[in-house]
Amino acid sequence: MIDRRENGVVLDRTAFYPRGGGLPSDVGVIVYGGKEFSVNFVYSEGDVVVHEVQGDIPVGATVTGKIDWERRYRIMKLHTAAHVIVGVAYSNFGVLITGGDITLEKGHLDFSFERMDRELFKQIVAEADKLAKEGHNVKIYYMKREGVLKTPGLVKLAEKLPPKIDVLRIVEIEGIDVQADGGPHVANTKEIGTIKFLKAKNVGKGRKRIYYTVE
Ligand SMILES: [Zn+2]
Repeated sequence: MIDRRENGVVLDRTAFYPRGGGLPSDVGVIVYGGKEFSVNFVYSEGDVVVHEVQGDIPVGATVTGKIDWERRYRIMKLHTAAHVIVGVAYSNFGVLITGGDITLEKGHLDFSFERMDRELFKQIVAEADKLAKEGHNVKIYYMKREGVLKTPGLVKLAEKLPPKIDVLRIVEIEGIDVQADGGPHVANTKEIGTIKFLKAKNVGKGRKRIYYTVE
């Protein structure tokens, strides 16, 4: 443990994913002196990751972090499913994402469609499910910012790339989707299970929302 905050601790390295990129943070425990301390929220603060934890853990202590893997794995499935849905929407209709969020129960994605078409959304999710079940590999690699900007389709989030980042992490689902992304994914789309359409909602101009889940 290398530093303290009022509400938590900073470690020299961590497996905990901090809240961000439309994904919830990991939860789990930090083990110190034979005792387990609950970690209920993890967030980024500048370059460091803060683990919210109660308890007297001194700076310099050697600790072990354990994430709630079952919960994390479900988030990885929902997140990878989001990429498959986005890939289908982009390659078939050329639409970009204007927002998204994932909870443990479900995910939603907003697309830049002008018109609301529930049947079309159902078709997109059905196609995504079919593709996922084919078993496509998910590859992670790194690319320089210039390369990312030059590659069509790499930045599907309608907002621009975060400034000040020179090398970006690229997540490619072979044959389906490739984009700059910092979140956790499964290694093959087969792990997702079934992607299910839940509902569609019009949340504004150029923001048509799909709710989906995996099971
Ligand atoms: Zn992602």
